[in-house]
Amino acid sequence: MQELTHYIGGAHVKGTSGRFADVYNPATGEVQAKVPLANADEMAQVIEIASKEQVSWAAVNPQRRARVMMKFVDLLNRDMDKLAEALSREHGKTLPDAAGDVQRGLEVVEYCIGAPQLLKGEFTDAAGPGIDMYSMKQALGVCAGITPFNFPAMIPMWMFAPAIACGNAFILKPSERDPSVPLMLAELLEEAGLPKGIIQVVNGDKEAVDAILDHDVIQSVGFVGSTPIAEYIYGRGCSNGKRVQCFGGAKNHMIIMPDADMDQAADALIGAGFGAAGERCMAISVAVPVGEETADRLVEKLVPRIEALKVGPYTSGKDVDYGPVVTAAAKENILNLVETGVAQGAELVVDGRNFNLQGYEDGFFVGPHLFDRVTTDMDIYQKEIFGPVLSCVRAKTYEEAIGYAMDHEYGNGTAIFTRDGDAARDFASRINVGMVGINVPIPVPLAYHTFGGWKKSMFGDLNQHGPDAFKFYTRTKTVTSRWPSGIKEGGEFNFKAMD
Ligand code: NAD
Repeated sequence: MQELTHYIGGAHVKGTSGRFADVYNPATGEVQAKVPLANADEMAQVIEIASKEQVSWAAVNPQRRARVMMKFVDLLNRDMDKLAEALSREHGKTLPDAAGDVQRGLEVVEYCIGAPQLLKGEFTDAAGPGIDMYSMKQALGVCAGITPFNFPAMIPMWMFAPAIACGNAFILKPSERDPSVPLMLAELLEEAGLPKGIIQVVNGDKEAVDAILDHDVIQSVGFVGSTPIAEYIYGRGCSNGKRVQCFGGAKNHMIIMPDADMDQAADALIGAGFGAAGERCMAISVAVPVGEETADRLVEKLVPRIEALKVGPYTSGKDVDYGPVVTAAAKENILNLVETGVAQGAELVVDGRNFNLQGYEDGFFVGPHLFDRVTTDMDIYQKEIFGPVLSCVRAKTYEEAIGYAMDHEYGNGTAIFTRDGDAARDFASRINVGMVGINVPIPVPLAYHTFGGWKKSMFGDLNQHGPDAFKFYTRTKTVTSRWPSGIKEGGEFNFKAMD
């Protein structure tokens, strides 16, 4: 059995807590490795290393820091296939989807190459006689990130690339379910020229997270994962005086107007609802067709497409639409929610409950499901299922449809499919959701924009990546400097306005 490590001070280090978690191959159900779970002492040692090394890293000029990012991009491209394979093996997603996971993180690294420009401060020449005023964006110090299982490459890179480009040291506590890729990323960063101790990966669970939240030296905490944990981390981190941003769960609605191109809408729903087995925070899990006739046409187009989905292991290459879910517990949770949906009266139009993949009977595969006539009081509507289950909620009018999305507690992503520009503009303007697609089902912003939901999908002020990341990972210092000329006037005792 392979024993994974932490990555501390530039080296792979074995865990010393004596506690481990199993890492599965979700396609076969086999335990393929065990990962150490760090305790507070191990975390304290890591924080000490980070704190010591960060000072000299912050003193490296931004252009040189950016060059490390440039080289890192090259190395990510060089190792793309290797990273994607390791990612698929632990997560279960298909190889092209795993490469996409790496690619969307890589694009944030590319954005961070602009650090010299993004870190430029402001300057006012001659704010008063002999007085100049300028602001600097300085690194915070030691930052930490806690990431989910579903994007083990992209989300760590969303956090550590801007943090490091800004001159911070970063401690990553990745998901214990798929920790190998984060470890590989840390190695690649050092190969790219990052000094030891600036990126460290500490595997663990709640104990490691609490050690981060309670340690005085940690200046900021980024979290992505489920909403209950996001709320917990936000509360505890903030009350300990840290800068915290937490991104939580989702229930993304797609509204289909009667004038939409129904084939386009159905194709979009298939990809957005079932891609990555529905294990995406930007997955569409609720389709809201407007009008009975629209709903009938949509369901008619969805059923054959869903029934034709190819579910299988990543080793089948491009011949698979989606793979297994991440653990047996995730599978059980999804199937329990499906049973609840049936018991509460939703119409199960495509029933994936008896899905069985020959040769992979112990894998965590879940067949695709489509529920029709779902109502807002049902558990399958209210809860995040995080599996290949699409719910159709029929709305009589556009107002009713937008109301469903507005009233739901989550507000990560949403979409509208229509040919009517007026409806699209109205939707984009009124909806209380952070990321909106117009005829685009998964509107994940590119690296130079920012990513973040609203309502219970986000806790904090600043979004991820784009310009917000450079605000989150720096603090501003404003200097007023005076170089007086001529005769000195003696002390001044009043709070001065500039002449
Ligand atoms: P999770 O909340 O179970 O775990 C996320 C991280 O928190 C992991 O590193 C885990 O070790 C840690 N953790 C778990 N329990 C903890 C506890 N009690 N105390 C402290 N730390 C704890 O989430 P997950 O299952 O890995 O990921 C799926 C969830 O993430 C979904 O809800 C999904 O919507 C969400 N997600 C959100 C976004 C977003 O940007 N909003 C992106 C991706 C995933």
